Amino acid sequence: MKLCEICPRNCKINRTDSSGFCGVNNKIIIRKVMLHKYEEPILTGKKDKGSGTIFFAGCNLGCVYCQNYDVSHSNKGKEVSPIELADIFKMLENAGAGNIDLVSPTHFTEQIIEALKIYKPKIPVIWNTGGYEKPKTIEKLEGLVDIYLTDFKYANNAYALKYSKSNNYVENVKNSLKIMKKQQMKNVFVENKLVSGIIVRHMVLPTLIKDSIAVLDSINEILGNEAIISIMSQYVPMGEAYKYPEINRRITPLEYKTVLAHANKLGFKNAFIQELESASSSYTPDFNSIIIDL
Ligand code: SF4
Repeated sequence: MKLCEICPRNCKINRTDSSGFCGVNNKIIIRKVMLHKYEEPILTGKKDKGSGTIFFAGCNLGCVYCQNYDVSHSNKGKEVSPIELADIFKMLENAGAGNIDLVSPTHFTEQIIEALKIYKPKIPVIWNTGGYEKPKTIEKLEGLVDIYLTDFKYANNAYALKYSKSNNYVENVKNSLKIMKKQQMKNVFVENKLVSGIIVRHMVLPTLIKDSIAVLDSINEILGNEAIISIMSQYVPMGEAYKYPEINRRITPLEYKTVLAHANKLGFKNAFIQELESASSSYTPDFNSIIIDL
């Protein structure tokens, strides 16, 4: 009997007949497959029809501001085998996808590895993660994943615990980022499209500006200021954010500018930033539809 320790939660449950914190057993469940252009523009080329995005059911984080907590921690969706997942990679590739964008993949790492060993797409494979990864698990992805698109949500576990139900986020996001860096020593572009490398995302939360600054310091320490970062302003209080008055609002222009000023001070040259107007639920794909739609 194999007990699950895929991610830093270490639930140690047998996923053949039960599920842990992530809410799913060991059968791959897909919530949605689509071509879309919501990701950073360097991930798709001019001729691409968007990112070939596969949204997996379940999540190993428990963000109180998640707009889809109930759905993201349920097993609602379409069950597929690794062979069928490999077929979906091919289908997206044939449909003109510029990459295979695996969203919230962590809890299905072993099954995704199996699928990627059946068929490794010719387009970049993106590991689009909340950053709550175990370094040992990231090691298994060497040679299979081309781009790490990882969140770095918090620099202080007190916030990670309060807002994402994790008491060991910070050490794991940092140590996993070091392994990602070992695998992807530099960012490689072909015709202005990133084909291998790392993008680190950080969504600025209201009030937690000092923590955002500490996150930028950590990214700088681990990857240096040549790293590609994405500083997001799109936070909208959703889910249970209303229970936490300090984060129950959008960020202010001053808060965002303060974080951007620190990125500038650290010398980050490759930073994606957003207009504050982008804080809208229009960025959120419709998860009510579970069927594959291309
Ligand atoms: S993948 Fe799921 S069951 Fe396994 S340790 Fe992480 S949260 Fe727990």
